[in-house]
Amino acid sequence: MEKDLLIDDTSDILKQLLAEMGAKSAMTLGYPVAKDIDFSELLPFIKYPLNNVGDPFIPSTYTVGSREQEKEVIEFFSKLFRAEEDNWWGYVTNGGSEGNLYGLYLARELYPKAIVYYSEATHYSVQKNLHLLNMPNITIRSQDSGEIDYDDLEKTISINRQMPVIILANIGTTMTEARDDVGKMKAIFKRLAIQHHYIHVDGALAGSYAAFMEPRPAFDFADGADSIAISGHKFFGSLIPCGMVIAKKNHRDRIARSIDYIGTMDTTISGSRNGHTPLFLWYVIKKLGVEGLRKRTRKSLEVAAYAEEMLREVEPAVWRNPSALTVNIPKPDKALIKKWQLASGSDWAHIICMPGIDKEQIDAFVSDFKLSKLSSAVLAG
Ligand SMILES: *Cc1c(COP(=O)(O)O)cnc(C)c1O
Repeated sequence: MEKDLLIDDTSDILKQLLAEMGAKSAMTLGYPVAKDIDFSELLPFIKYPLNNVGDPFIPSTYTVGSREQEKEVIEFFSKLFRAEEDNWWGYVTNGGSEGNLYGLYLARELYPKAIVYYSEATHYSVQKNLHLLNMPNITIRSQDSGEIDYDDLEKTISINRQMPVIILANIGTTMTEARDDVGKMKAIFKRLAIQHHYIHVDGALAGSYAAFMEPRPAFDFADGADSIAISGHKFFGSLIPCGMVIAKKNHRDRIARSIDYIGTMDTTISGSRNGHTPLFLWYVIKKLGVEGLRKRTRKSLEVAAYAEEMLREVEPAVWRNPSALTVNIPKPDKALIKKWQLASGSDWAHIICMPGIDKEQIDAFVSDFKLSKLSSAVLAG
């Protein structure tokens, strides 16, 4: 007979898992996870079944949720992303991938015959989303930095210039944190006299701090974006994966549908939506404000510059895009990748200096990196 899971077993397992999470979370350098914010004040909310079902801006008959906070979060980012007054809308998603799905879905509803263009450095969620949406698409070459190759983009669009254009622009590619320039894309539309176009910005990685950079990258509504997706569990440090999508309101009005059962509009990809995650984002905004977020960005950039400098002393090939938190290193041995939970491609790996990572941690990593280089040199020799 199978043994029932006893209460004692459960608490032992949980205790062990908790200890493991504490130890593992201290050793992440490769994934973009901010660790500097104390969310203890929000922990009591886990007792309640918060659910922001449907459209955040239209009340539902289910009222256990955080709609007011969600609306404030969306408003904050709409202003930060310089959306036109009264022409913005959005919601808190389950992550960057859902935000990209939503942006591409809106674009398809506006331009069903369009071709989607995106660079080869684009996140894997985009190809999956295009497949789900069954949208024709063309991959454009990337420069070595990871930024899209504008000449290839212009040439490729000009070959298909009878078709509406949808571009998925990256504000922070996953591997090198490269940023595409939305202004240069708009200039291409102008040169080729493209009338029907849509730009969705995948800002999952750097969209949440791009507005605090100097010079400010060209990525937002004033620069020509139609929708922007960002992540909430990267730079904003939400303990539960989440994100946000913001779009021009006149675009979303084209797809809105009213549903009697929930008493609100079904304008989001998910029906039931997490009511806890908007609280994390709202909390960060309230605690830090624009100035706090700006300072936090500056501090992380300093750590990234320090890491680049220290690592380059060990390995001259180390590099970093301008104003990026990501430092690229030639792919080290497996032990180092495992120990520091580095994300790696075929030849390169990187560390990301998100808030919560300090110079001491960088020093510890640099000394491990040095040792790993020495030992691989010994093995090779
Ligand atoms: C992280 C990331 C995503 C996906 O975000 P999820 O929250 O994991 O769904 C998409 N695009 C880029 C560039 C990313 O860095």
